[in-house]
Amino acid sequence: MNSIPEVPLPRNEPVLSYAPGTPERAELKAALQRMSGERIEIPIIIGGKEIRTGDTAEAVMPHNHGHVLATWHKAGEAEIRQAIDSALEAQREWATWPWEDRLAVFLRAADLLATRWRQTLNAATVLGQSKTAYQAEIDSACELIDFLRYNVHFAQQIYAEQPFSGPGMWNRLDHRPLEGFIYAVTPFNFTAIAGNLPTAPAMLGNVAIWKPSDKAVYSGYYLMKLLEEAGLPPGVVNFLPGDPISISEAMLGSRDLAGIHFTGSTAVFQSIWRNVGERIDRYRSYPRLVGETGGKDFIMAHASADVDALATGIVRGGYEYQGQKCSAASRIYVPDSIWPRVKERTLEMISQIRVGDPADFRNFMGAVIDKTAFDKISGYIDHARDADGVEILAGGGVDDSTGYFIEPTLVEVKDSAYRLMCEEVFGPVVSLHVYPEARWSETLEIVDRSSPYALTGAVFATDRSALREADAALRNAAGNYYVNDKPTGAVVGQQPFGGARASGTNDKAGSILNLLRWVSPRTIKETLAPARSFEYPFMAEE
Ligand code: NAD
Repeated sequence: MNSIPEVPLPRNEPVLSYAPGTPERAELKAALQRMSGERIEIPIIIGGKEIRTGDTAEAVMPHNHGHVLATWHKAGEAEIRQAIDSALEAQREWATWPWEDRLAVFLRAADLLATRWRQTLNAATVLGQSKTAYQAEIDSACELIDFLRYNVHFAQQIYAEQPFSGPGMWNRLDHRPLEGFIYAVTPFNFTAIAGNLPTAPAMLGNVAIWKPSDKAVYSGYYLMKLLEEAGLPPGVVNFLPGDPISISEAMLGSRDLAGIHFTGSTAVFQSIWRNVGERIDRYRSYPRLVGETGGKDFIMAHASADVDALATGIVRGGYEYQGQKCSAASRIYVPDSIWPRVKERTLEMISQIRVGDPADFRNFMGAVIDKTAFDKISGYIDHARDADGVEILAGGGVDDSTGYFIEPTLVEVKDSAYRLMCEEVFGPVVSLHVYPEARWSETLEIVDRSSPYALTGAVFATDRSALREADAALRNAAGNYYVNDKPTGAVVGQQPFGGARASGTNDKAGSILNLLRWVSPRTIKETLAPARSFEYPFMAEE
């Protein structure tokens, strides 16, 4: 075909409301009912083939841990080797596909997800990760559709990026995929991230071995089936659930490791980086390391802040998805002058929050992901209960008898260096420090240096000069910075996402900057009428 194709201009997938009487509400309820009545078996998928090892684990509902949704098979040594071989084999053909054919697969995946697959992925995310209907919709439907459509657009932009050509030559850039495979390691908390990490490199002709989180294998499996239905050739993305340590050991030990696309905790990414560093002389190329990791995300309020907007930011930013967003607001700084009003409004809102089974749409919060998370978060609450200068203003109750439920908890902390103000909790525990209004500037410095992370942060103020001062003081404290809004809810194409310092390599998921990490450009210079003798004019006789 002789054409220079233009991919369809992306636009953000509209978020459906799930209000009573809407068709999406009825469809999701039906999917929830159907899927919670089934118990499926999840194989490993390598080179398009389903493999059952017999070494299995169970996927349960976090809000009803006695309810098993699936039995999933874990990869062993043989499958790990097979996945690497299959990915490398698939790359030979995939890398030679015309780019518009490759990208068409992902456009089709986006449209299938927007239509027929939408409620399957949403229901899997509600049931397996305990998200409410709305939280699932903005994640497993909209954000993933956006990742797919916008990344296709950015891929085309990369291919269009070409050098100038001087007289007598034609210069070109061939944006090659990396040589080898990409190891995609995904977290439990966003189905969209699980979909994005293997597919973003794959669009550019790479192949991926995807190790889903062992806490989100259930939605991961449906995602893999969606990609297959969209026409992704076998072996381009290989689905390899299993023990993270042994799988990672084998992946990092392969000379064909071309890159790692990771999202998860800081400690795990640092261990991966260290392991790659130790083996650097073994690899065919320098593996690209892209990791988006933890956060200790702040809300800094100025005395001029709109109190209702601030309280809403604290409650939505802190407690949606049980505080299990890397961007969740978890340390709040409020001046004493407005604290009584902020306290009243925030406590009033918290008192209205319902926690429970997310299939009951009246609930604003579900359960935390598993027993380990439950114990860790409960430990922080216990510590807060006994610590001096720390008061639990709301919540504090935990109950894991049916599901891993933790009440939305607000803790007031006198010492701004107390551990709850500095460490990532990853649960519905928000800590808050009241500072003297006159110490606004000093408190900005405290916000900047209290934690090793720099992922998201928000400032609430109506006074413009205060906003200016905060903007400068907190410039390096957050990769995603919000003014008069909660620090969560970044939208693909609108607020490219990622943080620096201990929060990651800040390669901005869902932007052209991320995709640039997955190409290795080759420069081609073609001389049109090449020189035919070696002498230059300056060498001629006077
Ligand atoms: P996690 O670090 O426990 O797990 C992430 C992935 O790493 C999983 O697939 C897991 O199986 C794997 N893993 C675990 N131990 C490993 C090891 N030793 N070697 C190799 N791989 C290993 O994180 P999680 O609990 O799934 O997710 C929560 C964390 O992710 C939080 O810290 C959160 O802030 C972060 N997160 C960050 C972003 C971001 O964009 N910055 C987005 C989502 C989540």
